Amino acid sequence: MIEDYLLQARKPARYIGEEWNVSKKDFSRAEIKFALCFPDLYEVGMSNLGLRIIYGILNNLPKVVCERFFAPAQDWENILRSNNLEITSLESKQGLKAFDFVGFSLGYELSYTNVLNILDLGGIPLKASLRDHKFPLVIGGGPSVLNPAPGHAFFDLFFIGEAEEAIKEIVDLYEKFKIEFKSGEISKEELLIKFSAIAGVYVPSLYEVNYTEAGQIKEFSPRFPQAPKKIKKRIVEDFNQAYFPCAWIVPFIEIVHDRITLEIMRGCPNTCRFCQARQLYYPFRVKKVDKLMELAETTYKNTGYEEISLAGLSVSDYPFLEDLLGKLITRFKEDAVSISLPSIKPKILLGNLAALIATIKKTSLTFAPEVASDKLRRVINKDFDLAVFTTALKQAYSAGYQRVKLYFLIGLPFEDNSDLDAILEFTKNVSELRRELNLGPAQVNISINTLIPKPHTSFQWLAMLGLEEIKSRENYLKSKLKNKRIKLNFHYPEMSFLEGVISRGDRRLSEVIEGAFKKGCRFDAWDEHFAFQKWLEAFAEAKLDPQVYLQEKSKDSILPWDFIEPGISKELLLQDVPETY
Ligand code: SF4
Repeated sequence: MIEDYLLQARKPARYIGEEWNVSKKDFSRAEIKFALCFPDLYEVGMSNLGLRIIYGILNNLPKVVCERFFAPAQDWENILRSNNLEITSLESKQGLKAFDFVGFSLGYELSYTNVLNILDLGGIPLKASLRDHKFPLVIGGGPSVLNPAPGHAFFDLFFIGEAEEAIKEIVDLYEKFKIEFKSGEISKEELLIKFSAIAGVYVPSLYEVNYTEAGQIKEFSPRFPQAPKKIKKRIVEDFNQAYFPCAWIVPFIEIVHDRITLEIMRGCPNTCRFCQARQLYYPFRVKKVDKLMELAETTYKNTGYEEISLAGLSVSDYPFLEDLLGKLITRFKEDAVSISLPSIKPKILLGNLAALIATIKKTSLTFAPEVASDKLRRVINKDFDLAVFTTALKQAYSAGYQRVKLYFLIGLPFEDNSDLDAILEFTKNVSELRRELNLGPAQVNISINTLIPKPHTSFQWLAMLGLEEIKSRENYLKSKLKNKRIKLNFHYPEMSFLEGVISRGDRRLSEVIEGAFKKGCRFDAWDEHFAFQKWLEAFAEAKLDPQVYLQEKSKDSILPWDFIEPGISKELLLQDVPETY
């Protein structure tokens, strides 16, 4: 029994379930059983709104039971493996093989080895081609599937886009054919062909990819006439009425975002050229203030949380922010519930909103200028007004803020040392501006990420910086920084490199991912677990050069993700590639 071993785990609460508001459905009575897996720790997975939405929708369907699985931490994996135990669900401690579907939320490209670890610990063959009707169908969805090619070998089907409505169509179709499928009356391929008729579903085994000798894609074509040539991303019909998990599960242990996350908008009205998220959540939609107040009220009553965070890609662009913040602050003041905002645009610190923002917890301010020179602002098409920023910052310092966090990108097209110098100059000015108010310099933390020219962005054809060049630009910044009030943080260069390779990768990377998993790679997005050397060995064994995936791509080449249509067309992206500054 798994329970007999839980006390040996470093944090048993990651695996026990039983949290407040958890689903208590009878596993044995459900017609369709859905294992919802998150390939990272419990604390990360339970901070993911998408996971909570799918969990709630599925468990609201009388015929379905949905139970959660998270990636086991190393200590728990060791306990499971050394005692020949399978990974089990948090709710009723079922093994993966007891489910009809094993669904993975693929939030980032570096989670594939954890996907394989969960499958392996559940006794499920890693490759879809090795699983027959006796095994569950493995389905993947989430941000990484905008390019599903690298993980194609492991998944029976992918779902592209917002699953709120489509997930019901998927379980309905399965219910219709479950008996025939499980009895072997219809083959898995026949069933998958039926699934491919659902908008947003992509079944990788129904397509064939041919490569040129140089490794370019020569042809991507369906093997069956029923398989659609293009997969159009699904979006919910009515976002205002879309399901929200008001029966919010309250964990026993602190999680990364330990609060209510109120999603106020999807999509973004801005057009930053490097940004994949705007494609992922396209088009821009908002929830109405009354609806959000109702959701906040119900969720608060169901949880007792003391913080409500407004979520969206660019919450400063929510058109009714003043109205919403005013109402939320007034309503929740009496219950001492704080309202928080993620990274904001400077403009919302001015005008009528300033007074409201000033009532919000004064810890640190977060901005994402991304670049510090006008030249690069034009290159990335970033809407950032320096005069507004300066005025807003002065007001914020006067209102009590002492710390500022800034996000920057390096490795942009046309970037040279003068742009890196501009980052340091900009940051110094941000710190010194507080001195002008006789308040002493501000503490500024800068987070520097390397541009990954991601699929479905205007930068998708561009080369990404190689490892040595990333390190050289980082070293340049480090060597020039002389201000003790400014702290530089860099994303691990090797990790950015691998993320670039996998996010831009093709089907041949499945072999590399499996190789890296078998060498022991897990939690590749975690600095302390990341084992770059093992990845390099896996590439060498698969006879693939990772650097090839970071090279510039010809505008007329077939890209591994071309068959996915997220909303903004390839033609429009092509017209938007910056040729000059
Ligand atoms: S970077 Fe931010 S503001 Fe720009 S398009 Fe993406 S989400 Fe919107």
